[in-house]
Amino acid sequence: MNADLHCHSCHSDGVLSPAALAARAAANGVELWSLTDHDNLGGLDEAREQARAQGMRFVDGVEISVTWHGTTIHVVGLGIDPRHAPLEQGLASVRSGRDERALRMADALEALGVRDAYANAMRHAGNPSLVGRSHFARVLVEQGYAPDVHAVFHDYLVRGRPGYIEHQWTALEQAVAWIRGAGGVAVVAHPGRYRISGDQLLRLLGDFRDAGGQAIEVVSGSHGEAEVRQFARLARDFGFYASRASDFHAPDESPIDLGRGAHLPVGVEPVWHAPELGSRVACLA
Ligand code: AMP
Ligand code: MN
Ligand code: MN
Ligand code: MN
Repeated sequence: MNADLHCHSCHSDGVLSPAALAARAAANGVELWSLTDHDNLGGLDEAREQARAQGMRFVDGVEISVTWHGTTIHVVGLGIDPRHAPLEQGLASVRSGRDERALRMADALEALGVRDAYANAMRHAGNPSLVGRSHFARVLVEQGYAPDVHAVFHDYLVRGRPGYIEHQWTALEQAVAWIRGAGGVAVVAHPGRYRISGDQLLRLLGDFRDAGGQAIEVVSGSHGEAEVRQFARLARDFGFYASRASDFHAPDESPIDLGRGAHLPVGVEPVWHAPELGSRVACLA
């Protein structure tokens, strides 16, 4: 099964429309697809329609920003009902601090010499309520501060760097509760990307499981081969389903294109076997 269960459109910090993503996913052989924009559901109707037109199975998705003991963690929800009011209202509350954070980020970057940082980031933001670090990163590349967005993050936009602004997202338990309440499966996104110690990682996964989380991304655009093996082992140890995800954002930025990651290793249970997804996948097939 070529499943790709995590990517972004212009409704958050990707650059392509949901229709263009659907066409690209189908051209790359994706059979089961999910659009998982950050903290909003605005692209799902178009993605679902276009997936059907391309003959792909589709599950509604979202990627929720969480703060866990001071660290930003991303939790993907798969197979959610996008009309579930508590999820919609919860996501609106998560989005509400972004504009103020962007203004503060712009001040910090302008102090370094970046020109019109806020207006330029907004020019890149397809959805003004979802302005984020990726939009600023594209501005810094344009203005010659670094050769690519990855280098911009490293030099300017991560904790300890001059353009980083601390922000409080929602609680882990809250994000999982919204996802489960909307009938979905909660998945820890790209667990290899968090800068936390081994013990902290085990605590995160334990807290996530206690909250009702059921899956982790084993294959991710952020994971190398060693991390795929590490997270396959942890999925088995914790009894989590395993997800497969490119986390695709843009043709020139993302390390893995839609549907082009490694396959899940043997010995893990694919997340599309979860009953929550099974019923939705089947009724869309
Ligand atoms: P935000 O939600 O505004 O804090 O932005 C988070 C987004 O920044 C992530 O979803 C990624 O798209 C992007 N991002 C974070 N770290 C990196 C990195 N090292 N390189 C490239 N993009 C990154
Ligand atoms: Mn992103
Ligand atoms: Mn993420
Ligand atoms: Mn993502």
